[in-house]
Amino acid sequence: MTRHPDDATPLSTAAPGVQLQPAAYEKLLGALRDAIARLAADEPFERLVVPPVISRATIERAGFAASFPNLLGTVHSYTGTAADWRRLSPLIAEGGDWHTRQGISDLVLLPAACYPVYATLDGRDLTEPVRFSVEAQCFRQEATAEPGRLRTFRMAELVTAGTAEHCQQWREHWLGRVADWLETLGLKPSVELADDPFFGGGRRIYQAAQRAQELKFELRVPVADGLPQAIASANLHKDHFGEAFAFTADGATGNTACTAFGLDRIALALLHTHGPRPADWPQPIGNALNGTAQNGTAQNSTAPNGD
Ligand code: AMP
Ligand code: ZN
Repeated sequence: MTRHPDDATPLSTAAPGVQLQPAAYEKLLGALRDAIARLAADEPFERLVVPPVISRATIERAGFAASFPNLLGTVHSYTGTAADWRRLSPLIAEGGDWHTRQGISDLVLLPAACYPVYATLDGRDLTEPVRFSVEAQCFRQEATAEPGRLRTFRMAELVTAGTAEHCQQWREHWLGRVADWLETLGLKPSVELADDPFFGGGRRIYQAAQRAQELKFELRVPVADGLPQAIASANLHKDHFGEAFAFTADGATGNTACTAFGLDRIALALLHTHGPRPADWPQPIGNALNGTAQNGTAQNSTAPNGD
């Protein structure tokens, strides 16, 4: 079967939660990236492109390894000798355990785009809020692979650090802004108080504390029939990363907040809602996505302060 060149539906692979993305899908992700940049144009975000791996020490320090060990993908590499390898290499062809001399490295797969940013603030006292716009290919070793639950997916994030008051207001502002933006794309997100999937004994306590303090909100939209998934989240971390990475704001422990856009899930929600060919979507959706006015001309889309 030949695919239509405008069909953006991703292809599944032998690995659950790992998809191949056609050109039309990549074009859609590019349009989403540009639309988020326009949305963020009134604030001076510093743009950083984040690689798909991060220092293991940073992720340990951030608390991710302790709270989500089941989701963390570690990077291992060969630590044996050439003599060991002469013995091990034939096992590849036999389907045997050729990897018994692999050892954990100093890198892990990046689980969320915002983590590297906090580490850059180590030791600083912020007299003004700082803002970053980041995007990365993320990895999480999810236990299931229903539609929208990928193991590798692209996440764009807007991140800020500053005082508690600034972060609280910023998170409120962005929660509303992202919900409104998704509406312009013809999606109808439900805004839900949420928690993170902490692992192990303290799980219930951490989740209850997160909810009681209203730290996490998710914007949920169906990505398949009867299957709503979080396509974006707005998070307040209080002083968690300020403590972990030793930065302050106006002399007190620094606070942080982030707004995460699950680019793949937004794309999947749009494809589910409007059909598999973005080129055929209703014109108002195309206009909202591409920042074009009703007559199809480009609006002022150049950001004065980075993107
Ligand atoms: P979180 O840090 O869990 O709030 O994730 C931020 C956003 O990334 C979510 O709102 C989703 O849109 C997206 N996301 C998280 N996990 C996955 C996944 N397994 N597959 C696809 N997208 C995901
Ligand atoms: Zn984040």
